[in-house]
Amino acid sequence: MEVKTSLLDNMIGVGDMVLLEPLTEDSFLENLKNRFDHNEIYTYIGSVVISLNPYRSLPIYTPEKVEEYRNRNFYELSPHIFALADEAYRSLRDQDKDQCILITGESGAGKTEASKLVMSYVAAVCGKGQEVNKVKEQLLQSNPVLEAFGNAKTVRNDNSSRFGKYMDIEFDFKGDPLGGVISNYLLEKSRVVKQPRGERNFHIFYQLLSGSSDDTLKKLKLDRDVGKYNYLSLDSAVVSGLDDAANFRTVRNAMQIVGFMEDEMQSVLELVAAVLKLGNIEFKPESRCNGIDENLKEMCELLGIEQSVLERAFSYRTVEAKMEKVSTTLNVAQAYYARDALAKNLYSRLFSWLITRINGSIKVSNAQAKTRHKVMGVLDIYGFEIFEDNSFEQFIINYCNEKLQQIFIELTLREEQEEYIREGIEWTNIEYFNNAIICDLIENNKNGILAMLDEECLRPGTVTDETFLDKLNTVCAEHQHFESRLSKNSKFLTDHSLPHNCFRIQHYAGKVLYGVESFVDKNNDLLYRDLSQAMYKANHSLIKQLFPEGNPAKVNLKRPPTAGFQFKASVGTLMGNLQTKNPNYIRCIKPNDKKASHVFTESLVRHQLRYLGLMENVRVRRAGYAFRQPYEPCLERYKMLCKKTWPHWRGPAREGVEVLLTDLQVPAEEFSYGRSKIFIRNPRTLFFLEEKRKQCL
Ligand code: ADP
Ligand code: MG
Repeated sequence: MEVKTSLLDNMIGVGDMVLLEPLTEDSFLENLKNRFDHNEIYTYIGSVVISLNPYRSLPIYTPEKVEEYRNRNFYELSPHIFALADEAYRSLRDQDKDQCILITGESGAGKTEASKLVMSYVAAVCGKGQEVNKVKEQLLQSNPVLEAFGNAKTVRNDNSSRFGKYMDIEFDFKGDPLGGVISNYLLEKSRVVKQPRGERNFHIFYQLLSGSSDDTLKKLKLDRDVGKYNYLSLDSAVVSGLDDAANFRTVRNAMQIVGFMEDEMQSVLELVAAVLKLGNIEFKPESRCNGIDENLKEMCELLGIEQSVLERAFSYRTVEAKMEKVSTTLNVAQAYYARDALAKNLYSRLFSWLITRINGSIKVSNAQAKTRHKVMGVLDIYGFEIFEDNSFEQFIINYCNEKLQQIFIELTLREEQEEYIREGIEWTNIEYFNNAIICDLIENNKNGILAMLDEECLRPGTVTDETFLDKLNTVCAEHQHFESRLSKNSKFLTDHSLPHNCFRIQHYAGKVLYGVESFVDKNNDLLYRDLSQAMYKANHSLIKQLFPEGNPAKVNLKRPPTAGFQFKASVGTLMGNLQTKNPNYIRCIKPNDKKASHVFTESLVRHQLRYLGLMENVRVRRAGYAFRQPYEPCLERYKMLCKKTWPHWRGPAREGVEVLLTDLQVPAEEFSYGRSKIFIRNPRTLFFLEEKRKQCL
């Protein structure tokens, strides 16, 4: 990595982990802690930014700070997220290189805040003018809208994003923003109907109830009292420091700026209200819903659905087989299952619609789309998850992280290799763990875990989570990263610690035990056709749009793709997209799980450091040559160490450096001379130079 000269001066601890010597997990941790204790929340690994959540507002994001970091070289100032944003933006503007900012870390580590800081920095330094400002405003205001509908209070984070987000911001050749495109990944829709203890449903529900006028509530047939709604948890309805009513105003305002019409906003709120009504519908054994259920009636009124249609859809399930329609009666449990499935589907489709709608507003106009433009992508996505109980969601999330790790290694090594070639230095092979084998275990089209899950879901006959597990056990048993009780692999044969309904994967970040319960159901993600048809019949243009498969003219539509299949496809697209860009990494770390400032829990940080692969990160970055620096600044910094170069060297800088190093008797195998830079193999050599320099000063 480039030697960051300033990083060696007046620095608390070491500003760049690549310079850490000796490099061990302990020294890494100690350095982070030392810096954190001195309010230095950012530390580099080469060009990677490690960010520790301070859990309090620090005065380091002011307009003055923006000015300080603007147009400065990465290594001139102390580590900061603005330095990364500036570097990325300038490289995009001046060198025409598309960029992506990849932000990872566990829930509450500060990813979303980081993505907003990057966006606001770029907004502050890029073009001015009325048109440009409007585009900026719309891009920034998409955040509060998405957060209202996609974030919730969880145990780990009061404003936890329950979806993954990738946003491409597009710029013209001058570097002025033109617009953007947002993609979302896997909204946690189960939250709509049920929340873990101490957590809430999505913010919008509470915002709507506490922030809207009596008049609006009346129109939506809602009661202000959160306690009236089954889908809203009571024990944590009020979150300290969270003003739902004020936030509702912010959201409405943001929707206006993004370009939502008044009637569109009304439609959206009607759907939100309908979900609340849905949650209050009750079914009884004798008459499942007998027309007196007030909630069902009101939901139908809100959405313009004929009551008898919805009642019927909650009472029967029609299965079409070979031109024949067979109706079976739903029992009470099935009716509740159908109700919740409808609520989850309705909400997640509304969320996707919101994103499509926002994209319609912020997209680059056709005329401009034809001209050459440049792109900066920002990815804010859940990090690796290892919980007590890991289900389909964790499996999918961890798969995504395997892919991100793969692309990280690929892109980092590619960047290294390109620089070696540019500089005419011989490429030395870097040893690293290639996790392609784990990705393959999951995504292989033939016998990957996702393919087998799909096969089970689409197979006729009785399909259960157990039949799926059996299949995995037979097919994956030989795979070195797959473990089950039945694994044929002798290594795991005796592993009886594994519960009977689980399998375990050795991820790059560690072993994770997955319970197969609900894998089939969650992957299927089916909504009874009767329900989608009922929704399609609604006299409400938004809800009709959301259930196109309910169109009777299209009954022969094949079943929608499974959740796993869709996710794999969107991850594939994302990876393809990232691959064409120059990557910038922000690795977020949560210092404690109390949401407290000034607390650094070592064990917790150590754990994250492992599964973020940060040690591996440093190793890759300093494999081959740990440091490199253009000849001029190198000579400038160390010329006082040698009589021949002090006070002035008259020849080319490269020769000056050569004379200097020879004179200091640095062993020849410690460095290589590139076209424009000196490459130094070991950090010790650098410290030797630094030590000498200190003695001279
Ligand atoms: P994540 O998206 O990783 O789950 P968030 O970005 O939502 O986490 O951060 C969680 C909370 O931590 C924020 O709501 C904020 O209170 C605090 N936080 C995160 N980053 C910062 C920061 N740079 N400065 C101050 N507070 C922060
Ligand atoms: Mg987040």
